Amino acid sequence: MDTKYIRNFSIVAHIDHGKSTLADQLLLLSGAITQREFKEQILDDLDVEKERGITVKARAVTIHYTHEGEVYELNLIDTPGHVDFHYEVSRSLAACEGALLLIDAFQGVQAQSVANAYAAIEADLSIITVVNKIDLPVTRIEEVLEEVETIIGLPPDEALRVSAKQGIGIHDVFKAIIKHIPPPAGLADAPLRALVFDSKYDNYRGVITYIRVKEGTLHKGQTIKFMNDGSKSHVIEVGQFCPKMVSCDSLGPGQVGYIVSGVKTLGDIHVGDTVTLAENPAEKALPGYAKPQQMVFCGMYPIDATDFEKLRDELHKLSLNDASFTFAPESSDALGFGFRCGFLGMLHMEIIQQRLEQEQEIDLIQTAPNVTYELLLTNGQTQLIDNPENVPDAGQIQEFREPIAKTAFIVPGENIGTIMQLCADRRGIYKSTEYLGPLRAQIVYELPLGEIVYDMHDRLKSATRGYGTMDYEIIGFKESDLVKMDILVKGVKVDALATIVHRSEAERRGRSLVKRLKKEISKHQFEIALQAAIGARVIARETLSALRKNVTAKCYGGDITRKRKLWAKQKEGKKRMKQFGQVEIPQKAFLSVLDVA
Ligand code: GDP
Ligand code: MG
Repeated sequence: MDTKYIRNFSIVAHIDHGKSTLADQLLLLSGAITQREFKEQILDDLDVEKERGITVKARAVTIHYTHEGEVYELNLIDTPGHVDFHYEVSRSLAACEGALLLIDAFQGVQAQSVANAYAAIEADLSIITVVNKIDLPVTRIEEVLEEVETIIGLPPDEALRVSAKQGIGIHDVFKAIIKHIPPPAGLADAPLRALVFDSKYDNYRGVITYIRVKEGTLHKGQTIKFMNDGSKSHVIEVGQFCPKMVSCDSLGPGQVGYIVSGVKTLGDIHVGDTVTLAENPAEKALPGYAKPQQMVFCGMYPIDATDFEKLRDELHKLSLNDASFTFAPESSDALGFGFRCGFLGMLHMEIIQQRLEQEQEIDLIQTAPNVTYELLLTNGQTQLIDNPENVPDAGQIQEFREPIAKTAFIVPGENIGTIMQLCADRRGIYKSTEYLGPLRAQIVYELPLGEIVYDMHDRLKSATRGYGTMDYEIIGFKESDLVKMDILVKGVKVDALATIVHRSEAERRGRSLVKRLKKEISKHQFEIALQAAIGARVIARETLSALRKNVTAKCYGGDITRKRKLWAKQKEGKKRMKQFGQVEIPQKAFLSVLDVA
């Protein structure tokens, strides 16, 4: 295929601005899908994604479109729209020459519009601004275009106005892609270099590797070499997603498609790797990407110890199709044998949990999530901490470091004060304020990730009645005065309840945590002391008095916020209790930490 008829692009947008709808509309108009399939939103094919209206995994689809008598091959590489998946956005963009920046005609520029647009600019892509939902009864198209110019720096004159839902202006989108996005460069007879930008596991064909050919040509039947580790593999099939998998004889420069080869497990495919031919290999690999780092961890324990292997199988299955989810066995005095699971962020964690809940019937106890910390030890070594329980004695720690996120909020002007207070309360460092127009502003803070992961998003939404949006990016670790806070129940440390807190906050949090626990744990036949301690020093204490005769069982109550609903959905009741010494601790108690932020 002559590269002059190829275009590779992504659609970047804030969540809910209509990316999936536009992608499907492009497929519909090109005849790749039927009206019925359009209604079913084919690009988001996982249940969880549909339920949450987000696209998690990057996908690729090839669209054939005839323009002025020529058939063009347009490769759309889908990107996820949420903060947790930044790394997937940049890996998808690396396979493109252009991007459509899609913006809701009423909501205007939001936090992820800015973040994703910047990512596209950094990747040197040609960007086409597309204002979507022009069919809405109330729109602010002109203001929205001004916002794009002010905060992102893209001129309004060539912006398109469309309705993805009603199919208005879609042919203009095709034309703009063909006109404004440059065709890929690359010679067909150069040594092969193809970028691996995704992979997935298919029950019938095994590992499917998504590639974008940069130069050279790959034929079916050839032997390829992965430049990362030099491993070789026979190519059984090459093809494109149209959107179903359609095999072809070869993929040339600029083309996007898949390889089915003898690779056995997804773990053998490294996103960002370069594929070349075993014979006549390329000399240098393409620039890859940084590996995503898990920033949020939690423990998952089966209530019934005999479910351990079953849980391992389930976690393994989930990790097969999501290389950014990790898990490793660990044991807890309080909870027995379980797994420490690593996620990119809180949303990622919720998605995995939801999948786990949908797919199996293991009763789980989950510990409160924590972020990754970095320690500089007195012996000069650094250590990453993914479980508060693993923090060594204070004497061995020279520096306690926590992850810092550069966080951008876009909020109505009247809420600026509230957001600034919220950030100040969370040890934020103010960076800047920039107005998008007369009514809205972008505020940037540096915040400890640990302070934002639990409830920042909920707080922002309630402070701005749903109008505020945020986006964050980890910029590194910074030294902070952090301590490990232990919880003792009846004089015994419960390891699964240990947390890491800022020293200045320790007493307040300790006090409210033991109060909270007092509510969660039922009375027993004896008195139970609940204590929070730093090292040997007790900083808070509550006493749960002994059960007297004729006292009816205590009801669990309390407020359940949006985030906890998911856990609350988990069957409550007797099964979700852990016997700890003489004391029964319910599942909810292990999440109490979340309620005392
Ligand atoms: P994504 O999160 O960016 O993928 O957004 P979706 O494509 O899932 O769309 C989010 C919501 O906006 C859905 O309810 C769509 O039906 C709706 N939507 C998308 N495009 C339009 C449009 O052009 N007009 C209107 N009125 N609604 C739209
Ligand atoms: Mg979507």
